[in-house]
Amino acid sequence: MPSIVPRVPGLCYGGDYNPEQWPESVWREDVALMREARVNLVTVGVFGWAWLEPEEQRYEFGRLDRILDLLHDGGIRVDLATATASPPPWFSTAYPLSLPVDADGRRLRHGSRQAICASSPDYLAAALRLVEQLATRYRDHPALAMWHVNNEYGCHNARCYCDTSAAAFRTWLQRRYGDLDGLNDAWTTSFWSQRYTAWEQVLPPLPTPATGNPTQALDFRRFSSDAQLAMFVAERDLLHALSPGVPVTTNLMAGLHTDQDYWNWAREMTGPDLLISNDHYVLGEDDIPPAAQIAYAADLTRSLSGGSPWLLMEHSPSAVNWQRRNLAKPGGRMILDSLGHVARGSDGAMFFQWRASRGGSEKWHSAMVPHAGTDSSVWRDVVALGTGLAALAEIDGSTVTPTVAILLDYASCWAQEGESQPSVDMDAFAEVRRWHHALWRAGIVADFARPEADLSAYRLVVVPSLYLIGDAGAANLGAYAAEGGHVLVGAYSGIVDECDRVRLGGYPGALRDLLGVRVEEFFPLAAGRSVALAGGSPLGAYGLVWAEFGRATTATVVTTFADGPTAGSPALTVNTVGAGGRAWYLGTRLAPDPLVSLLSTVAASAGAEPVLPDRPDGVEAVRRTRPDGSAYLFVLNHSDVDATVRAAGTDLLTGAVWTDSGVVSAGGAVVLREAR
Ligand SMILES: [Zn+2]
Repeated sequence: MPSIVPRVPGLCYGGDYNPEQWPESVWREDVALMREARVNLVTVGVFGWAWLEPEEQRYEFGRLDRILDLLHDGGIRVDLATATASPPPWFSTAYPLSLPVDADGRRLRHGSRQAICASSPDYLAAALRLVEQLATRYRDHPALAMWHVNNEYGCHNARCYCDTSAAAFRTWLQRRYGDLDGLNDAWTTSFWSQRYTAWEQVLPPLPTPATGNPTQALDFRRFSSDAQLAMFVAERDLLHALSPGVPVTTNLMAGLHTDQDYWNWAREMTGPDLLISNDHYVLGEDDIPPAAQIAYAADLTRSLSGGSPWLLMEHSPSAVNWQRRNLAKPGGRMILDSLGHVARGSDGAMFFQWRASRGGSEKWHSAMVPHAGTDSSVWRDVVALGTGLAALAEIDGSTVTPTVAILLDYASCWAQEGESQPSVDMDAFAEVRRWHHALWRAGIVADFARPEADLSAYRLVVVPSLYLIGDAGAANLGAYAAEGGHVLVGAYSGIVDECDRVRLGGYPGALRDLLGVRVEEFFPLAAGRSVALAGGSPLGAYGLVWAEFGRATTATVVTTFADGPTAGSPALTVNTVGAGGRAWYLGTRLAPDPLVSLLSTVAASAGAEPVLPDRPDGVEAVRRTRPDGSAYLFVLNHSDVDATVRAAGTDLLTGAVWTDSGVVSAGGAVVLREAR
């Protein structure tokens, strides 16, 4: 199998390289240090627009020529950015209508980055002119390994409310609904006298006296994600036309950002001469520990890539600069973080950025070459990681194949994030993260999937929070269970259709028959309250956030609510479906420990096992395999004590041979090539 970046054999290692921040006298030292650290790929020019086009259609490529030649002489390949992520001030001054407008109607200004309306024709024309210049000039440069389109689309400008965007939104709605009758029906405009009689009356969801129309808000989020994606597709198509055979990517923010429907992006980023790449930064102050945050982002990115290898395009050597308190990584942690991504399918580890900036917004963001220089713990880790990744070259192209899937649907989460829901505590994205974290604690590696995906490879499909589901998704889940699959569905799922209209006849609507449960009424809990569960419950003593009143129709009741207005109603049920299928339903939310117990129990009954069943606390294990039978077991010790682990093979990092067990040092890792 060829590498995801064919011109970089083995694993990719490097980061964003921004030589425009430094005098040319520094560049030679940069290349020498890259060689010392065994860097083989750098991303050049992400924010280089002002450097490359100092005034409209006057291009200056001399410095970029010199830096690419220098990198090539050093044996370092280039992920060449199209530089379109941050238009220079001259552009915004000449084309003020290209600046984005926020939800309060304020037009944002240049002086930061990403000051772009995604629907601006002036921006698109200028961006494509620059891409054409870069592609024709550098497509045959020997250093060029891949193209890097834009940067973190929608990071700061996910939705624009300007008049240009409003017109584009109306065009998008016309394609979706055909005519105004279709729109009025989909948006339930019969409520509150909202009926539209001409297209120009239709607006983005601007401020209103009372709560706005929820389907209008949902469709605007769908439209806004599509508008960002269209910018990528335009650059991608031009690059494929002018520079055929060179891979194209853009760096997603799966696992951190939720404004783009990354399933739709994945469709446009997989196929010939394309690859999925992702940026991930650990949240220092979060309920979920850093290693599990990394696992979430990596599992999601791998799933977007259809299970194929992908590339970690950015993470941080140590602290970032954009959180309230930016926690630095202790020595060695950066290596473990990188291997956490590699274990779950990244064919490399890249960073933001190569050399720490002296000034500007991100001067406190760590870098591979820190302010302190090479006499530093960070630099020693950078060199050690380069050595380690070189030792792992043979894993290139191997894959992770879980037997558990977590359903995630962006539009469903967006709809649930809307106003006037039963409880503000029913956060959809957060619940998906909590279930993934519980599986991570149980040692079970999971994919993510959209509701309409082919689920046949999985023994268990879990559905933490799927408020909105289309008929096709519901039918797909039902067919999966009917063919013997096991399903576990969380509360407040299956409730509305794609237009956010309630499915009538009892909750959970579209999943009622599959689950064998009929719920009459929701009883969300007051802040901080819990609801007792019947004695001896496998779920622990209490449910959180949510209770509901209903009954089992065909399901077996495992546990009931034990106090309050829902006493006696089912809290956990299991329904037998088709040829050995099981459909579990959890009608409340659980604290972390009971959720781990429930998921472990359900996974075991479905035949979905942890990668290492008897691993010590704090030890993460993931296996990458290849169709020829090769298997690589990553064992990462996140605890502060050495861990003895039962496994056998040869550690690619040290050459040590494990006959039936070995010790992974505190904060350390081994990567075993297992015997065939
Ligand atoms: Zn706009």
